[in-house]
Amino acid sequence: MKPARFDDQATMPRCPRHSRTALGVVLSIALFTLGAACEDPPPPVESPCPRQTDAGYVRTANDGGLVQFWTSTDRAACLTFHQKLPGTADLGDSLETSLVEAALLEWSSQASGCGADMCLRLGEPVGADAIFGFTLDGPNRNVISAVPDADLWRLLGEPEASLAVTLTTYDQYGRLLDADIALNDGGHTLSDDPKASEGTLDFASTILHELGHALGFAHSIDDEAVMWFDLRPGETRRGLNATDRAGLCEAYGCR
Ligand SMILES: [Zn+2]
Repeated sequence: MKPARFDDQATMPRCPRHSRTALGVVLSIALFTLGAACEDPPPPVESPCPRQTDAGYVRTANDGGLVQFWTSTDRAACLTFHQKLPGTADLGDSLETSLVEAALLEWSSQASGCGADMCLRLGEPVGADAIFGFTLDGPNRNVISAVPDADLWRLLGEPEASLAVTLTTYDQYGRLLDADIALNDGGHTLSDDPKASEGTLDFASTILHELGHALGFAHSIDDEAVMWFDLRPGETRRGLNATDRAGLCEAYGCR
């Protein structure tokens, strides 16, 4: 059975201090990196809600220690995610779309339930030209894509055993600008009916977890949370628990 490690999280500053080597176009997955001539537009238009409490969730912080958050402008429009189709080889596209929609709805409905200012929605699917990462020239869309080949997955710099990665791009104030989710489809078998005996992993739980990273959350210290770092074959985590909700409600529910 493959190792049960769930995933990893990657973040990238809009204006990186260190230039990273561009991977170039790899079967239409391009990790765009930026040169040194870059300046974040000041001033910050708003402050994020308080960093966090001791409720067990963990917010992602940038190099300067500021938590990452989506601005009220982004939130007012609803965060929109786009599937790159065709999706995983393990699921049909229509099933995959319905599972993604359910995961988006779970975060949205939980936010609504506590008065948090956050909603997520599914936009039009995107094709082979979708960008994994951020480019100053835009347009930047939040993309969910499947990486079909283990060699390509390694080119992203991710451990072979990882199930998925979410790359968030932020500015110096912690404002999130872009969030892209990649699934290690070549390294794992994703399923809507996962079985421990077959080593298959739950697609819906995976997307729900990665969306949490996209919202600015790191791995929870609560081992029953959706944002726990680990997902085992056959296991499902398709609903936020109290710790996940506390993070969502406190990060986006303050006024
Ligand atoms: Zn994770």
